[in-house]
Amino acid sequence: MIKTEKVLHLKSSRGRKVRVVREHYLREHVPCYSSLCQAQCANEGKVLSGEVTHYVMPDAGVARDFMEILEFREIQGIVFTQTACQAVQHSRGRRQYNRLRSLLKDPRHHCILFANEFQEYSYCPREKGEPQDKWQTRCVYHAAVWYHDHLAGLKPVVMITEDQNAVAEYSSLNCGVYVLCTQEYLQTFWPELQAALELYCSIAQSLQEKGSEGTEREYTEHLPAEVLEAGIKSGRYIQGTLNVNKHRAQHEAFVRFEGSSNKSSELNSDVLVCGGKNRNRAVHGDMVAVELLPKGEWRGRTTALTEGQGEEKGDETQSQPMATGRVVGILQRNWRDYVVTFPPKEETQSQSRNSQRILGTPWDQRIPKIRISTQQADKLQDHRVIVRLDSWDSTSLYPNGHSVRVLGRAGELETEVQTILIENCIHVPPFSEAQLGEMPVSSPESPWSVDPAEVITRRDLRQTHLVFSVDPRGCEDVDDTLSIRSLPPGPRGERLELGVHIADVTHFVKEGSLTDLEARARATTYYLADRRYDMLPAVLSADLCSLLGGVDRYAMSVMWDLDAQTLAVNTVWYGRTLIQSSYQLYYELAQALLNGEEAEVPELGTIRDAKLAQLTQALETLTHVARQLRAQRDKGGALELEGVEVRAQLDEDRNITALVPRQPLEVHETVAECMIYANHWVARKIQESFPQQALLRHHPPPRQEFFNQLQDSARARGFTIDTRSNKALADSLDRAVDPRDPLVNRLLRVMATMAMSNALYFSTGACPVDQYYHYGLALDRYTHFTSPIRRYADMIVHRLLTAAIAMEKGAGPAKALASNKELEEVAQQINNKNRAAQHAQKVSTELFQCLYFRDKDPETDERCVADAVIYTIRANGMLVFIPQYGLKGAVYLKNREGQVVSERQDGGCDWQTGSLQRYLDHITTTTAVGTSTFNLFQHITVRISVQPSRCHSDTIRLEVVSNRPHQAPETQVQTSQPQGARGRSQLVQEVVRQAEEASQQAEEKRGRASKLSTEEREFRQSKCPNLYSLLEEVRELALLDLAACGAGGGGLGAAAQACATSA
Ligand SMILES: [Zn+2]
Repeated sequence: MIKTEKVLHLKSSRGRKVRVVREHYLREHVPCYSSLCQAQCANEGKVLSGEVTHYVMPDAGVARDFMEILEFREIQGIVFTQTACQAVQHSRGRRQYNRLRSLLKDPRHHCILFANEFQEYSYCPREKGEPQDKWQTRCVYHAAVWYHDHLAGLKPVVMITEDQNAVAEYSSLNCGVYVLCTQEYLQTFWPELQAALELYCSIAQSLQEKGSEGTEREYTEHLPAEVLEAGIKSGRYIQGTLNVNKHRAQHEAFVRFEGSSNKSSELNSDVLVCGGKNRNRAVHGDMVAVELLPKGEWRGRTTALTEGQGEEKGDETQSQPMATGRVVGILQRNWRDYVVTFPPKEETQSQSRNSQRILGTPWDQRIPKIRISTQQADKLQDHRVIVRLDSWDSTSLYPNGHSVRVLGRAGELETEVQTILIENCIHVPPFSEAQLGEMPVSSPESPWSVDPAEVITRRDLRQTHLVFSVDPRGCEDVDDTLSIRSLPPGPRGERLELGVHIADVTHFVKEGSLTDLEARARATTYYLADRRYDMLPAVLSADLCSLLGGVDRYAMSVMWDLDAQTLAVNTVWYGRTLIQSSYQLYYELAQALLNGEEAEVPELGTIRDAKLAQLTQALETLTHVARQLRAQRDKGGALELEGVEVRAQLDEDRNITALVPRQPLEVHETVAECMIYANHWVARKIQESFPQQALLRHHPPPRQEFFNQLQDSARARGFTIDTRSNKALADSLDRAVDPRDPLVNRLLRVMATMAMSNALYFSTGACPVDQYYHYGLALDRYTHFTSPIRRYADMIVHRLLTAAIAMEKGAGPAKALASNKELEEVAQQINNKNRAAQHAQKVSTELFQCLYFRDKDPETDERCVADAVIYTIRANGMLVFIPQYGLKGAVYLKNREGQVVSERQDGGCDWQTGSLQRYLDHITTTTAVGTSTFNLFQHITVRISVQPSRCHSDTIRLEVVSNRPHQAPETQVQTSQPQGARGRSQLVQEVVRQAEEASQQAEEKRGRASKLSTEEREFRQSKCPNLYSLLEEVRELALLDLAACGAGGGGLGAAAQACATSA
């Protein structure tokens, strides 16, 4: 090892130049991480494959400015030099550097780090007077030459640089080492990767424009990092995340402060930031430091909005003044990819034409307009484009960004769906060749079969147990099956054996494999209204792991030996099994069997009697057991909540023909209860085995103030809702039944659901034991075990259970388990992805609701007129629920001209000049004609139309037609019974059938909706029309994402966002 000195010229955060001398050690052996190595380097971990045509080595400038291009997974064989990495670290900050590091770590990316400056023969010291960038380029070139020689010339090495002089100087020096500029490189080696070339041009253009900024200051300079840090420590500044009110995006934002570093303890709420100057270039989601304004300048948050009211109008209602401040610095930018709509031609031309700059409007209303330099302004007008932000200088009114990829024309279905994915940070590229290469082979020619060596390690249930599944019709990914049978009586009497058998996914997906990493990154299967994106490749999710009928499958089982009378647990067995499901039932069929109706069971064919009786018997016993289990949980305070769930009915061409609210069958509950039972017992097992590092799922009790709306609304109808505990809440909800209108109870349950927080995954070591409780299910411990095909959490739990079983057998965990800290990080990641999945699903449902109503004329089409129930009163209108479409939304009673809705003699409504008065349980409008009253829980008639938007999503608009119930021409859809009444299944079935028939008839009369083009259909990754099958996770709470409604005050708009989704 040789010791030298290395001189660095660094810039301090105040802009001072510092000269640092560091000791620098050189070694002869520095790993090359290439599989072609001829010199026995200690290459541990990821190595570059030799199966590429060349290796590519970006110089410091390329790594710094064009890393996005190097992130394309298609570009393989990238060697990042230490020189280039340090350049990224020093000039682009921690965030960008971390991005590079995770790229280097990720086995799905073909790139490695070569520590060229530690290599004795590739290191070149900086010469006196040599500019830093020249030196860095020289270093990288030397590294390229060394690398090429080290691999004995087996692979050409291409260095890429933006420095034309370097191309001229180096390109002909060494045979086998090429020097190209980036653009030429992409054109020569990756001509089919058009997206990379386009992105290159976009970034290059943006860099070029950056030099020509104006000098006039639009904003105050941000304070330097060390000043901010000291200010936060002393309590002068407050640190927090900027949250923009989407309904008043340019005007109102809040800073949610984070935790302990905050010393100004009298503050217990958010800090309001008013206007663009005070926001000072902070973007929604950024971590900022704010300084409070003098108390005299404090203001209140806006509490009501009038429909369509411009931001400038000053007559909005404000609440009490609250802590108000201004942003003095940015601690961490949290920019992501944004979908932006390019302006129409008129607007591009009015902007300076030579500079080719346009102002794009982000789809997310909370993000400011973005200035983009482009040569495609004409071509891309009215297109949606992915844009990344580059900078926002104090001299620029808007942030600068560059376009990354064109999604398509705004308003087209495929563009809109891709927009939803990008906006929720959901990345679901097709599975790569390398990932698919890990999969076992199963094709019609050589079908997969069980391995005899594996069979002997498993408990074989094929001959002993009647196993069956119950799923939505047409389900491809069957991850759970059930069995139930009698056991010989024991000393304490009759015994039953209940079995839950779950797809053994982790048998096929080894920890750390590419498939595992991809599944972990996705965390869940994503269900949108018309398609799904699977977490695992189809060969697993629809075939080898899917517990299909009539084939041998590996399973992870939990089997309880129960007292037949009391269901007391005698023993529990956990382990790997081999099963063959005898029946693959769907819910309606299982329910029909239970109801004793004539039903066609495909597996039985013509021979029926005895076998059918056996199956029906099993279903009946299971129903009985599930009722008893449910009753036990009810005693503990389990909640029955309502999420509004709608199913889009599609024809064979996948056009929507109707929106149908989902109706539960009792068999849903039976299956769900067994799954909850299995999840609970697995949670107990893994928590007992690994008290510090098991993955559980808890549901924190809601904050009492969130129940105010529920309690006020219930009181208006004469009910008292006791929210002191889940048991009290469940009991009082059960009592709050209006015999004349079952919807009242359902709406109260919706409101209770909206008050809840999300259930979350956590590591047992990261949370005190008394917080393990699952409030909604009333269980002391809970986890997810039963859906490993579509939830990564369940895969982790399967591995934990396997380790627990091995430990019990005295083997000790075969592999080191994740530490508490690692597990907690994964848990947070999965929680975030779940939130994104729920949100994307909700937004895609709204998209389809808009598509459904978009081509109908609200004035003439009777499907656009519906019955609605008022469930909340607001300052300027009310929130209503439309049972027929499972739709919730705001109805405004005052418009932008100041007119109010007034009732005519015949019950119809129009707009008149007048005033509005809000009360606890009703709202009135007064005009020259008279007074109209709208009461809580009253049924009214509304007209549904679509409010189109060019840059954002379309929205559903509701208007009062009459303040009387809607007289439907056809059979009115009725809703489910309020209570957990067990006799309800038949009624429910009746209702579903009626609803579906009614909508079918209506549809046939009016002809089909417009067809999707072939291209639109081609893009879909999933071929399954199995909509919303996620919602089969029936009982584990329909829960609200609080972030969506917590901010932005009590305005109608904000509250209208609140929507329950299934968790
Ligand atoms: Zn080597």
